[in-house]
Amino acid sequence: MAGLFDLSGKVALVTGANTGIGQGIALALAEAGADIAAAGRSAADATVGKVRVLGRKSENFAADLSSVGAVQPLVDSVLGEFGRIDILVNNAGIIRRADAVDFTEEDWDAVMDTNLKTLFFLCQSVGRHMIARGSGKIINIASMLTFQGGIRVPSYTASKSGVGGLTKLLANEWAAKGIQVNAIAPGYIETNNTAALQGDEMRNRQIMERIPAGRWGDPSDLGGAAVFLASSASNYVQGHILAVDGGWLAR
Ligand code: NAP
Repeated sequence: MAGLFDLSGKVALVTGANTGIGQGIALALAEAGADIAAAGRSAADATVGKVRVLGRKSENFAADLSSVGAVQPLVDSVLGEFGRIDILVNNAGIIRRADAVDFTEEDWDAVMDTNLKTLFFLCQSVGRHMIARGSGKIINIASMLTFQGGIRVPSYTASKSGVGGLTKLLANEWAAKGIQVNAIAPGYIETNNTAALQGDEMRNRQIMERIPAGRWGDPSDLGGAAVFLASSASNYVQGHILAVDGGWLAR
């Protein structure tokens, strides 16, 4: 059974791997045997170091994913260094908070560009490589706001709803080509992304009270789902958005 989840010899490209959920997923994939290409605008030195301690290969790839121009150079660099990409984890993302009546075009474009536009073109570029090889795993990081509306985060909600739709579209187009495209929808996880919510006493209490598990998630809580979706254990799972949310959506 363990062989189903074995990622030995696989290469995973993880965006935003320096911290938070990206770091948690990169370490879990490495523990399952994968080599890690860590891409982002900040060097992922701590992640790369921990992956190497596990005995896997890992390198940093500098990429500002706020614009599509970063995509092809990144993919070319990773292929040049590792020779292949078996797993793509589209994790890099940002959030901007303001009331809908005050929300600016800049806050709209910044979030949509990073969370949705670049994500699609990274799927496209890596997808071409995977299609040529006849196999591959793509894991997009969605959100509770792929399913719900949220409040004061209009571009984030639009982007993460879009991630859900794109995940299904790409699964439809590429399932017969040997590629599995799925998403993980994290619940409320303690990272930089949620620091403002954690620091707001009232919102923090409201969130905690609504989570059946009774606690915020830790980035390591996403590891098992990521390894499942990256491994042959999920070879017949397509276009699925897997909530890892301590029961938030069940409430
Ligand atoms: P985080 O700690 O803020 O991490 C976000 C990551 O994305 C960082 O590595 C960040 O790099 C990177 N990034 C942002 N803009 C980038 C850009 N232009 N180019 C390259 N990298 C960029 O937050 P997180 O919670 O781990 O978020 C990871 C993903 O999970 C995001 O897609 C987020 O929307 C999603 N998510 C989070 C939660 C949660 O509760 N935390 C819930 C649902 C979904 P820097 O460190 O350089 O900024």
